[in-house]
Amino acid sequence: MAETLYLVIPCYNEEEMLPITAKALMKKMDGLIAEGKVSSDSKVMFVDDGSKDNTWEVIQKLHDMPQTNLFTGIKLSRNKGHQNALLAGLMTARKYADILISMDADLQDDINAIDGMLEKRAEGCEIVYGVRSSRETDTAFKRNTARSYYKMLEFMGVEITYDHADYRLMSKRAVDALAEFKEVNLFLRGMVPMVGYKSDIVKYERNERVAGESKYPLKKMLAFAVEGITSLSVKPIRFITALGVFIFVISVIMLIYFLFTKAFGSTVKGWASTITSVWALGGLQMLAIGVIGEYIGKIYLETKARPKFIVDINLEETQA
Ligand code: UDP
Ligand code: MG
Repeated sequence: MAETLYLVIPCYNEEEMLPITAKALMKKMDGLIAEGKVSSDSKVMFVDDGSKDNTWEVIQKLHDMPQTNLFTGIKLSRNKGHQNALLAGLMTARKYADILISMDADLQDDINAIDGMLEKRAEGCEIVYGVRSSRETDTAFKRNTARSYYKMLEFMGVEITYDHADYRLMSKRAVDALAEFKEVNLFLRGMVPMVGYKSDIVKYERNERVAGESKYPLKKMLAFAVEGITSLSVKPIRFITALGVFIFVISVIMLIYFLFTKAFGSTVKGWASTITSVWALGGLQMLAIGVIGEYIGKIYLETKARPKFIVDINLEETQA
């Protein structure tokens, strides 16, 4: 018996993109169903992440199409960002699916990689990561920053798959395990490896966005990058402690040196060196406080344990 597959797709202001995506996915899913790779009650679940345009109306229209039962959707009560929307979709779809694949609405993730993911699933994998085989469609800037970022995460002790965004297959079992992770600050691609289980990767080419525009401008990307580090690693705090110890040792050495040179009669006039060290230390202290503050902020948010998302409408449940 083939397993039931749910594709989970977060959408924020994707009214232009959705009809194109839906058309491509319908062809793909009909093919997979016809080949018996997935069961005939497999679906595509769109998650409307509080869009300001007509995304929800488009989703409803797709859901109501008489020719197919393929499309369904949930509507979040407000915009919660890609990671939360994705989690909302996974948490809802796991009620109906055996396997779940998360992907973006803009067809940048090559949907033909689904076949490869399903093959790995058939071999017994619980998680299959989609990995970009090249970054040709990215600017040199994004390529380089991404690479250094992965390196840095690795250095911070975070287990992460290089060039894997959130295009991945997870079994219901793996998603159920993910549900046990109660953190409010989400960085899913760093959390999923902690689930464990048998996993593998599938390579794919990432395409250009066909319509609409990226919802990840530089500012949001930076915020997401900081989130990735601070929600998964405490190394920055340790680094600052080490830096503090190092600077203290240097100052002791300096003190001894000054006392010694003074004893031999040469006075230090260095106004410049004094003022520079004052500034340098002030800066470092501010940096340290900032990093610690970032973590305290995280703890503050985690202790509140607010819901990560609120589902307003679930089309799977509104209709008999
Ligand atoms: N997205 C979302 N909520 C947001 C921002 C984005 O659900 O607040 C969705 C968006 O509709 C898309 C996916 O997240 O399906 C990835 O966004 P995008 O393609 O804009 O990012 P990029 O590929 O440029 O990194
Ligand atoms: Mg995109």
